[in-house]
This record gives sequence, C-alpha cells and structure tokens, in this order.
Amino acid sequence: MAKSQQSTFTKQHLRKYQKEGINEIHQSFREGLKRVIFHLSTGGGKSITFSSIVWDHYINNLPVIVVVKRRQLIDQASKNLDNFRIPHGVLMANHWRKKPNEKIQIASIDTIHSRSNYHYSDDPRCLVIVDECHDVRGSGAKYPKLFEVYDKSYIVGFTATPYADNSFFQKIVCPIEGYELRDQGFLVPERTYIPSSIDVSQVKSSGGDYNKKQLFEASSGSQIIGDIVKSWKTHAEGRATLLFAVNVEHSKMIRDKFLAEGISAVHLDANDSLDARKKALNKLSQGLIKIITNCDVMSTGVDIPMVSCIQLARPTRSVIWHIQSIGRGLRPFPGKKDCIIIDNAGNTLRHGSIYMPRIATIEKRKKRLDPLPMMRTCAKCYFIFTTLGPCPQCGFADKKVRNIDYVEGDLIHHQVSEEEIRKTHFLNRYKTLRKAARFGKKKWIPSYEYQQLKKEFGVDICKKFSNLVSFPGHLL
Ligand SMILES: [Zn+2]
Repeated sequence: MAKSQQSTFTKQHLRKYQKEGINEIHQSFREGLKRVIFHLSTGGGKSITFSSIVWDHYINNLPVIVVVKRRQLIDQASKNLDNFRIPHGVLMANHWRKKPNEKIQIASIDTIHSRSNYHYSDDPRCLVIVDECHDVRGSGAKYPKLFEVYDKSYIVGFTATPYADNSFFQKIVCPIEGYELRDQGFLVPERTYIPSSIDVSQVKSSGGDYNKKQLFEASSGSQIIGDIVKSWKTHAEGRATLLFAVNVEHSKMIRDKFLAEGISAVHLDANDSLDARKKALNKLSQGLIKIITNCDVMSTGVDIPMVSCIQLARPTRSVIWHIQSIGRGLRPFPGKKDCIIIDNAGNTLRHGSIYMPRIATIEKRKKRLDPLPMMRTCAKCYFIFTTLGPCPQCGFADKKVRNIDYVEGDLIHHQVSEEEIRKTHFLNRYKTLRKAARFGKKKWIPSYEYQQLKKEFGVDICKKFSNLVSFPGHLL
C-alpha cells in the first residue's frame, strides 16, 4: 500500500494553534536549534499533535524514537500512532510489537538506558520525542545519557507543565495558554473552594516536596478526614469526583470515611489492574459510585472527562503536581459546565489557580518567577476569588477584606484595603507579563502589557496605576 493511502490523517484535523506550534518547532530546527519543548496544556491535544509530528517524519522516511517515562505509557503512545496508521515498533524485550527494522520506534527510558545500542543515534536526521519532559533534569542519570547520545539529533520534549529545570532544552514553544483553551471551549472553567486546609507548618521538605511520612501524620487525624468528607458534602454538588490523597493508606482512610457516611467511594492504586480501573471509571460515569480516591495513579495519563469535581487532600510543594492533578477534571463532557475544586490541601494558595498564566523558561531559575495574584476566600462559602467586592459565588460581602498570602511555607491571612489589593494585583500581573515577554514566550510589542492589562482590569484601572509602571505614553 502506498504510504499516502495508509492514513486518513490530514493537517485539516489539527486545530489552528496546534498547526502554529508544529510550524514553530520546524522553524526552530531550520534556524539551527536542536532541542525544543512543546508546551501544551492538558486538553490541548497532545496525541494528535505528537502523532502529526511523527507523521511528517514517517512520510519522509526519517527515523523517530519516542521515549516515554514508564513502560505503562508505551501502549498508550503505540495506540496513538495506530490511530494515525503510522507503522512502528516497540523497543522492549518480548513485546509483541518488537520490530527493530521500523523507522519509528517507541521505548521507555529504562529500556533505552539499559541498552548499549541506541537506535539511529548516528543519524543526524533522527527525531527523538521525549514524552512528559518536565522533570528530566531531576530524574537521575538516564535522561542526561539520552541527551548525550542523541546530541546530533533533533529532540522535541512534550509537557503540560514546563515548570522545573528545562535547561536541557534551547527553546519552549507554547502556542496556547491554558486559560485560552478554556476561553475557546476546549477546557471547562473551574470553581475553587478552600473550606479547610491541612496544617503543614510542622512538615519538613524532602526531595522538593513535603516529607511523605510527616505529611501523612499531619493529614490523617480523624478531624481532618472528617472535614474532607464534610467539605465534599457541602461543595461537590454530588458530582463525579476524583480525590487525591497523601498515600495509599490515606486514600483508603478517606474512602472508608466516605463509605461510613453512606457515600459510595472506591480506592485505586498501582496494584489494581487496568481492568479494575476501567470498571471503577465506568461505575463513576454511570453514577454508581461518586468518588474515586487515589494517591497518584490517576494524576497523569488517564482521560476521565466525566469527572467534574477534583478534591485535593494532599498538600504539595510541586506546582507540576498541582496542575497535573487538577487537569484531570478540566476536559469538556456533555452536560458539564465547569469543574469544582475542593482544595483541602491549600495547594491553590501555594501555587495559584489552574488558569493563572505562568512563566516557563529554559533558564535555570533560582526562585519562583510568578508572583501569585492576591486571593481572597469568602468567609461564608469558602470560595476563592481575586476580584474586588462581594463573593462572586454566594454574594456575601465581607466588611473586612481578608487577603491570603503564601510566604515561605506559611499561609498568612491579613487584612488590607480594597485599594491595596487592587494595586498589588495589578502590579503583580504587570511584572508577570513583563517577564513573560522578556523570556520570549509571547511575541512582544511595546503595547503588549498594556493591552493585556486593559483586558483584565479595564481602561480606568490602567490609567489609575499608570504612574507605577511604564506603558508607552501615547496609549494613555
Ligand atoms: Zn461566598
């Protein structure tokens, strides 16, 4: 069969921003770059974009190695390529798809690492696709070795969260932001409540996140478990819910409490078969169970669009984990208008809301670049918002403005004037936009910050605080 007949895939199936992203990747390579990150939010259509890039190489008879993090992800990548009818092999002992002569190969990083024979590494036209590339720097020696061996090749890293150390790469291509996907209807809006947050002030850090053992101790008191279930009853509106716990034991404790309260819940962990997971998801979509509790088996790689409530019972210092876990609930589904986030972990206060624009950079960063916007919690319904005036959810007007800040591990509630909040919020956004422009994530024009802020705050506010920032004079 001629290659052109083997797939019904055409570029018309790609969304506009996907085409733009792919073009920018190719353009970067033409300009001499070799290693580029493709930053695409959850729901941005990684499968089709990734397959399209592989397809381009396949029809030109060029080799591609797709590298995934875990063996479990091999079959998923393989299925994607099958959907596009791209012939390929899997580099894995005893895999039924072991076809070493195919030009397109999928492998797990472990398999690649354990072999001395790196496919096509001497071919400078070879493309290496690194899936979930956001923490390759922090994943031991395997990825440095991969980048070293394929130093002549082109490398595209895919991730929804390029917020760790991206210094293996030379550029980040981001054709669309999460909030733009939401605005265009590819993701649903969120509503966040923080009814109680687990106290982590005594929990030490280890390996970039909270110490698991101490975190479990801080999160597993009967009062806390009770609060978690109580908040679900108050805020979840009976929705299909995915709950993230600290560890397997914590997840089971929470499930038991839900069951004791007469709410049908199922716990899942890595020991459950794929079949058991599918069954649980089916039950969830049919409304036979309300909640799946888990530790992290559901945080990446699973597509569960019917979930419309995410409950966070695991405090984390990792913005990547924060985004990945909430991302499970944002895909559109018939009848689904939004996703409720019940944040018992307080993660939103540490890392901001899911749709907050964030800066991704290839420069090694010493500290966070994104100032968090001012956030307020409603004293009545615990809704989180950044606007002024009464709570947009329940209408309650708090006489005292309560503002929340997060400073070096501690949540600080303090009282400030509306004016002060407005000013700080405005300045923070201005700084974020300036930095985003500086790091070349968006094409910068002199009026860029002004145009963005005008959209978010309105002309009057921009004029009011114009003396604090530097807008081009003719705009005001
Ligand atoms: Zn409220």
